Amino acid sequence: MCAAEPKKGKVYLIGAGPGDPGLMTLRGKELLEQADCLVYDALVAPALFAWLKPGCERIFVGKRAGNHAMPQEEMNRLLVECASRYDCTVRLKGGDPYVFGRGGEEGMALREAGVPFEVVPGISSAIAGPAAAGIPVTHRGICTQFTVFTGHEGKGKTESQLDIRGIAAANGTKIMLMGMSSLRETMTALIEAGQAGSTPAAAVQWAATARQKYVCATVASLADAVDAAGLGAPAVVVIGEVVNLSPVLDWRSSLPLAGKRIVVTRTREQAGELSHRLAAMGADVMELPTIRIAPPSDKRDFAEAVVDSPHYDWLIFSSPNGVKKFFQAFFAVYEDIRELGGARLAAIGAGTAAELKKFGLMVDVMPKKAVAEELIAEFDRKADEFGGVAHCTMLWVHSEQSRRVIHDELMKRHAIVDECIAYSTVPETEDLSGSRKRLLEEGADIITFTSSGTVRHFMDLQIPLPESCRIVSIGPVTSATLAEYGLKPDMEAPLHTIPSLVETIIKLAAAK
Ligand code: SAH
Repeated sequence: MCAAEPKKGKVYLIGAGPGDPGLMTLRGKELLEQADCLVYDALVAPALFAWLKPGCERIFVGKRAGNHAMPQEEMNRLLVECASRYDCTVRLKGGDPYVFGRGGEEGMALREAGVPFEVVPGISSAIAGPAAAGIPVTHRGICTQFTVFTGHEGKGKTESQLDIRGIAAANGTKIMLMGMSSLRETMTALIEAGQAGSTPAAAVQWAATARQKYVCATVASLADAVDAAGLGAPAVVVIGEVVNLSPVLDWRSSLPLAGKRIVVTRTREQAGELSHRLAAMGADVMELPTIRIAPPSDKRDFAEAVVDSPHYDWLIFSSPNGVKKFFQAFFAVYEDIRELGGARLAAIGAGTAAELKKFGLMVDVMPKKAVAEELIAEFDRKADEFGGVAHCTMLWVHSEQSRRVIHDELMKRHAIVDECIAYSTVPETEDLSGSRKRLLEEGADIITFTSSGTVRHFMDLQIPLPESCRIVSIGPVTSATLAEYGLKPDMEAPLHTIPSLVETIIKLAAAK
């Protein structure tokens, strides 16, 4: 290929859905993971950025306080230019790209420039927004059609293209997007055009996200209700008898952590489980990865320890990451799990045991509480069963930052302990999900710490803790580290596991 020839990449116009990352399509997620460049606007949930590969360029084209969004022609030019520089450009839009998203215009501009593109639909807030407040847009016996319209038209239009009469006269449910700034005027105009003022109406702000708020009123009283509740954009307005179903069908507001902003300080790789469980309980989760897993400083030592691992009586795993890194390296050298030999296995933490189980390996010794001291105690308790640890050869797989307890205590018991340092934890400097910014701007109700590392690294980031923010720790070691910084957790998980941590958070939230 001639070097001067411009690269012709492909542009994907993707709908991000109404806000909850779980409501994006699988195709959309797959493409986000491959994107070399992401062009996005304000309604796109920052949590989606966590799916991007490192080094993906991000271009924000939405409105920022005081600034207008990028003019459409400029936007179109930008996409064409991105296609000349990157193989895979994702243009991500809130909801569906073709529902008040100007996706059609961008598609036409790309076609004109000869740039290949693909459209990946998203769930429009027009449907998902009402649903998230317990309002189905159609319901048998109540209505047989729905109308979606915009409450805001492009600037500079002299004559209104909005068919208020037609909308007022239409049967069934009416859904308005972009209507908050002129809500009162639109409702008045609808009533003047014949819409009954007593028709039920609702406004749902930040629908399908944990920040969701909504009010139910009537067409005549909606603007006052919205003012009283302090609602604003982005919101979907729904008009029709279906609004009356909300008290019965709203499943979201009664979740135990509804409306709670909870900070998860874990590694980017590990945040998933805790975040998912909290989100399922209705929490507004801010993932704030403070640490990242990096290779150990001595990769050669690590590789040698893995090669020698079949010769030990015991393998001891301190963490799920240790298991993952160990077996990645193991299978780079050996093809068959049986090469590992007949070593007995010890693990700290149910998560660590679960990782081992993925390889069909069951743990022989695991303490109930996930701390090193308890593992030693468990070895002592089970000494009769195994004939004790004295003179046993043991390989301890752990991180560069682990405490020395396991090594020192087992040596005291005359075991021969070698170390396999499988990874290192380093501070996460990127704010990929935008959570750091949100925490600074909006505060949080609860912050969670799941290891001493997350405490230390969070402190390193020097983010001030919001005033009323409460602290939940996974266990005594993490709490002790918090104490070093003069902090005391409001609650500690009794079992030092993620499920136990979630239960503790629910208790704390309920305790008021
Ligand atoms: N393409 C988008 C709509 C873009 S227009 C879609 O299909 O949903 C922007 C408008 O969408 C906002 O003014 C608001 O009315 C609505 N909107 C988008 N996301 C929303 C959300 N999470 N909650 C409430 N309204 C939302």
